[in-house]
Amino acid sequence: MTNTEVPRADQNSAENTADKTAVARDSQVGAHGQKPIAGGWSRAARGAMLLGDDGQLHPTIFAEMSALAASTGAINLGQGFPDQDGPIEVLEAARRAISDGINQYPPGPGMPVLRHAIATHQQRFYSLEFDPDTEMLVTAGATEALTATILALTEEGDEVVTFEPFYDSYAAAIGLARAVHRTIPLRLPSFQPDPDDIRAAITNRTRIILINNPHNPTGTVLHHATLTLIVALAHQHDALIVSDEVYEHLIFDHPHTPIASLPGARERTITISSGGKTFSTTGWKIGWAIGPSKIIAAILAVKQFLTYVNGAPFQPAIAVGLGLPDSFFRNLASDLRVKRDVLSAGLVSAGFTITQPAGAYFVVADAAPLGHLDAAELCRALPGLAGVVAVPLTAFVSREHRRDYRSLVRFAFCKREEVLRQASAQLGQLSN
Ligand code: PMP
Ligand code: GLN
Repeated sequence: MTNTEVPRADQNSAENTADKTAVARDSQVGAHGQKPIAGGWSRAARGAMLLGDDGQLHPTIFAEMSALAASTGAINLGQGFPDQDGPIEVLEAARRAISDGINQYPPGPGMPVLRHAIATHQQRFYSLEFDPDTEMLVTAGATEALTATILALTEEGDEVVTFEPFYDSYAAAIGLARAVHRTIPLRLPSFQPDPDDIRAAITNRTRIILINNPHNPTGTVLHHATLTLIVALAHQHDALIVSDEVYEHLIFDHPHTPIASLPGARERTITISSGGKTFSTTGWKIGWAIGPSKIIAAILAVKQFLTYVNGAPFQPAIAVGLGLPDSFFRNLASDLRVKRDVLSAGLVSAGFTITQPAGAYFVVADAAPLGHLDAAELCRALPGLAGVVAVPLTAFVSREHRRDYRSLVRFAFCKREEVLRQASAQLGQLSN
């Protein structure tokens, strides 16, 4: 085996390749009768459900709703980003790194200081041992880690299974890779997956089972039995597991369990996370992928031609963050839990019904009791009605399943308490 071989045989599909030009042409943007732009962008856009039937390319829901918040002055509970800075030690470390001249390309796999800090973090919180030299890779946010992983490990026609609702970048990368997206529904009232749905989705065609735990947008934290079932099915069908754990420290009831810590999981799991949520540095885009060395080498083969490297002075700063005392991580979760409870109470008193999230920083609220059956319509009107921006859950759901999520709205609570109280008061106007 060479250094970049991965544990399953490639499945090149000649018949799929034959009609790829036709597929791409069909999906081109045809603006004002001009010749449309050919290329793989349309697979990414269509995957993420941003390409309309009319060929119109739409912005992501996050871009659209943040622009709406900016233009209306509404409180932005749409795009998930904190409105306060993270730990001063982390911010200072970045400033220091710039002053110390850490401003040139870091090594391709990431700076050793950060890779060692990630390894120590996995050991400290989860008793997981990984070699910082061969089993991890620093990336431009979790987003690049996800895209590079999907591009590196799938062949055309391979299936990638995710939960639905799903984070938009998964679907874009799956489309770009010419892989096939299969989903496991997360349904009200709990948004926990049904074991039968999991068994039905994962088959011998599955190359990657891509989980997100804690889950965006529902805030679901997967039960241990679900993780065990996923590992068993990955073995049965010789699939890889990719676990997006960017909200690993934003969890309210019990410590996070990485799926890689389950028996039999480590050798086929790639764990992806980033510093954005944990240290309130979403703009720094420092992420990572951790897994067996051969798989990491395969991902690096792609990653090095996406960004090559990024964020030199931010890498040692995130390393400082990962080494902060336990009290930092405890307070992060407990402070966020208070915010969750403030916004949840506000939404309930405004007339929504909510699903209490166990992790991440989003709460899903049903607007049906308020007479709003179409959340997308409501979200566009919400700045005018209540001075608040949120995102409809349908943005995370494929067209054929939208009906099941039609009246659901995602509100982000990673904001100052007074902002959440103000938003709650304004949302109270909806029932007047
Ligand atoms: N995965 C999920 C589930 C997310 O919610 C996000 C961003 N909010 C990302 C990945 C991307 O993380 P990053 O900003 O580190 O690229
Ligand atoms: N992950 C963030 C969210 O779910 C948004 C990041 C983005 O805009 N791509 O709100």
